[in-house]
Amino acid sequence: MDFYISWSHSDARFSDYFEYCPTLVSAVNRNKNVFKKLTNYPSKLIIDSGAVYYSRKGRNKLKEIFEMQLSLIESMPETTPIKIVHLDEPLLNRNTLSERYESVERTLFNALEHMNLFERNGLDKNVSLMGVIQGFDFPSIKYSIHELKKMGYKHFGLGSMLDKSPKEQIEYITYVSNIVGPENLHIFGVTGLEQIKEMASLGVESFDSSRPSMAAVYFQIMYSEPFRTYLISSTRVNKTQEKIDKPLSCDCPICIVNPDEIINTTHRSFTKKRSIHNYYHLVKEIEKIKSSVEIC
Ligand SMILES: [Zn+2]
Repeated sequence: MDFYISWSHSDARFSDYFEYCPTLVSAVNRNKNVFKKLTNYPSKLIIDSGAVYYSRKGRNKLKEIFEMQLSLIESMPETTPIKIVHLDEPLLNRNTLSERYESVERTLFNALEHMNLFERNGLDKNVSLMGVIQGFDFPSIKYSIHELKKMGYKHFGLGSMLDKSPKEQIEYITYVSNIVGPENLHIFGVTGLEQIKEMASLGVESFDSSRPSMAAVYFQIMYSEPFRTYLISSTRVNKTQEKIDKPLSCDCPICIVNPDEIINTTHRSFTKKRSIHNYYHLVKEIEKIKSSVEIC
């Protein structure tokens, strides 16, 4: 199971610190030159459509999105596995049944258009398409999968999970995994360890999360063995979370140089270093979860 760091132009350059660093990036304007800044390219890529961004902008130019996705991967080596995701219509704020059906149908329409553009462009073998499974209940999800398969999709991504409880998320992941096969399934935007454990035991192909960066922005420092998160005590954030004022012993690429940097809250450059440190520990925890599942 691969963990993709959900990444944008303003985040730390994870792939410059970690050799194996699958990355998810959105095809939005501000990310346009994002890979040109890197010394090492990510080992695997998912190019998302930037659905939330485009729905906010009130525009739906599928060809424009597709071209942006192509320009992002232009400089990538032909050996990098890349998956391109079509535009989906978020279900959030769709309250009536007919509004929801409309979203599902529009997402399927986008999937078909993207497949047409993809086939017309005759891309290299390392590039494939990912269909976004959408639905508001099990039958609509099943329908969505059925239609995507008919269009020729072989890789699938499940999104729109943020409004669901961890228990519901696990139910949906298990349901979808049983239909499409866990080896063909990516889960978008996962934050909880509980869900990660379940996905590992199902054998889900991959998931993405921005948690290392988000935690860093909120002055949180992660450690593994055992996995825990502390709040930097010098900040005024009034959480009940346990606080620390000194960095603990750590072998991450930042702390082996200067551990005090991860606890520094004076500049954005330290936030980025904190996110590198957090990534290191989250990856360690994910690896531990994976190996404990394999032993079972
Ligand atoms: Zn560290």
